[in-house]
Amino acid sequence: MHELGIVTYVAKSVSKIADENDIQKIAEVTLQIGEVSGIVGEYLIDCWNYFRKNYTVLTDATLQYETLSAVTYCEECGKEYETVQYGRICPNCGSEKTYLLTGNECMIKELKICEVSFT
Ligand SMILES: [Zn+2]
Repeated sequence: MHELGIVTYVAKSVSKIADENDIQKIAEVTLQIGEVSGIVGEYLIDCWNYFRKNYTVLTDATLQYETLSAVTYCEECGKEYETVQYGRICPNCGSEKTYLLTGNECMIKELKICEVSFT
């Protein structure tokens, strides 16, 4: 499963960051997911809610995500256009010499850390 692989990767990366920075608990993880990455945000959160129990630092961490819109570049006319709307064919010149600039990524955008209270 695609989403589980991503969740595993994110959980490992985040717990490593937490380790290096002496963080006890993460409150929230925000990801940026490309529009055409094929990642389903809802599945990702389901996987996360199941998987986070394996990491002490993540047990209270909720997963959020933002969608990054996909942009394609045309080599023929040098213009950029929306991938989802037009696909692989440039709407300006009709060329197929295009490639994806953004929209296929999955990145960790930010982490929120739980406030530690010593009461
Ligand atoms: Zn073009």
